[in-house]
Amino acid sequence: MQLTCNFLPQNDGRCGWYEMLPTPPPASPLRGRAKADWVVLGAGLAGLAAARRLAELQPDAAIALVDARRVGFGAAGRNSGFMIDLPHDLSSHDYTGDRHKDLQQIRLNRGAIDYMRGIVKRYAIDCDWREQGKLHGAAEARGERALEAFARGLTTLGEPYRLLDAREMQAVTGTGFYRAGLHAPGCVMVQPAALSRGLGETLPENVQLYEDTAVREIRVGKPHVLVTDQGQLTAPGLILANNAYAAHFGALGLKGRILPVYTYGSLTRELSRPEIAALGGEESWGLIPADPMGTTVRRLSNGRICIRNSFTYNPNVKASANQLARVRAAHWRSFVRRFPMLTGVSLEYTWGGALCLSRNGGTPFGELAPGVFSAVCQNGLGLTRGTIAGKLIAEYALGVESELLDIMLNQPKPVGNPPEPLLGIGVRSTLAWKEWQAGIER
Ligand SMILES: Cc1cc2nc3c(=O)[nH]c(=O)nc-3n(C[C@H](O)[C@H](O)[C@H](O)COP(=O)(O)OP(=O)(O)OC[C@H]3O[C@@H](n4cnc5c(N)ncnc54)[C@H](O)[C@@H]3O)c2cc1C
Repeated sequence: MQLTCNFLPQNDGRCGWYEMLPTPPPASPLRGRAKADWVVLGAGLAGLAAARRLAELQPDAAIALVDARRVGFGAAGRNSGFMIDLPHDLSSHDYTGDRHKDLQQIRLNRGAIDYMRGIVKRYAIDCDWREQGKLHGAAEARGERALEAFARGLTTLGEPYRLLDAREMQAVTGTGFYRAGLHAPGCVMVQPAALSRGLGETLPENVQLYEDTAVREIRVGKPHVLVTDQGQLTAPGLILANNAYAAHFGALGLKGRILPVYTYGSLTRELSRPEIAALGGEESWGLIPADPMGTTVRRLSNGRICIRNSFTYNPNVKASANQLARVRAAHWRSFVRRFPMLTGVSLEYTWGGALCLSRNGGTPFGELAPGVFSAVCQNGLGLTRGTIAGKLIAEYALGVESELLDIMLNQPKPVGNPPEPLLGIGVRSTLAWKEWQAGIER
């Protein structure tokens, strides 16, 4: 069986998280032929966790971790940095769903946070790790209703939370934009590019990291052969951790089941002291919109503000210059609406990144062909889901059993999508309708 990597990771705008880091030392791309016991394709959160876990369990095995770009350059370093423990169903109006499934999701997410906390502490990874929880904010009546439904969902799940009124929201965020809020304590906030880079720099010795190494073609067999621009890698075991870029792998049954959807972030320049004084509020907080199609906002302790909103369906796994320009204008509107006291502050960076979604929130986790394992499709929650999918796929591949692995294996598989062009029309019109409904929450 032969798989062609039709779409390779692109630049997708300048990501502020990555740009704030120092320039990394030169990459070590693959040149020539190499052999390994395992190849992990993609060094995002899933790939970094899978390679590390394989190496922990098999210290004598040779593990190759391959990425087309630098670690932290892709979506793993482009996200808003919320390591979310609670259910986060983007397709529901209040993020929650079926109680049993939600409880299982919480166990998986917390398993990811525990694993990551251990690594960050052990290697002292400098990624602004903050166990400060997350706010949910509502700006209008519809948002308030969604917040109430979310609160009811959390009560049913036995999860702690605190409701905040408009005055308390302003005391934290500095803005009078939010009418109501909710604080949930279990979310961890991180600098995502710093976390990813730190994970890449502290991989076990038996992991060979090949960055700037685009895989063009995969020949599935015994062994598998991955063809890159300047060489090829051979290994009997392959873990797919290339997330949205796997959506074109028809021969493995992924095409037509998982979808590349883009979302976008912008980061302001650093606020001056007078601007910080004019804003008020606390030095560091992260806010999720009451409506999943609304705007995520973070204030960073280094005096910048991060905005995230807008979703687009990009089957070519690439954000166009037009999309980035449109989104930047939308981000500016969202920023000014919330922070009218900061209209002199510019957005320094705007970027996009690929999510991988399935229509039913299912995951193709497991062995897709002999010796080919999948940790793709995090349904928008890659910091926790990607991490746990990567860790557990390594354990599954090596026959290590656990309750968490059973939960993962019992997650629903992705259902089939309608064919194109119906799919594109359907996804684009649903996104447009939901964004319109989100109103000023956006
Ligand atoms: C703006 C934005 C905000 C977000 N906010 C959050 C958030 O707050 N919390 C959260 O949990 N999630 C968030 N997400 C989603 C999260 O970033 C993703 O779910 C996560 O990155 C998925 O991790 P992954 O390892 O599965 O895939 P990715 O991070 O996409 O990694 C896949 C890797 O595969 C590599 N690759 C692909 N094809 C090839 C090839 N042919 N050859 C070599 N390498 C290849 C890519 O370069 C990439 O590094 C956000 C995403 C964006 C874009």
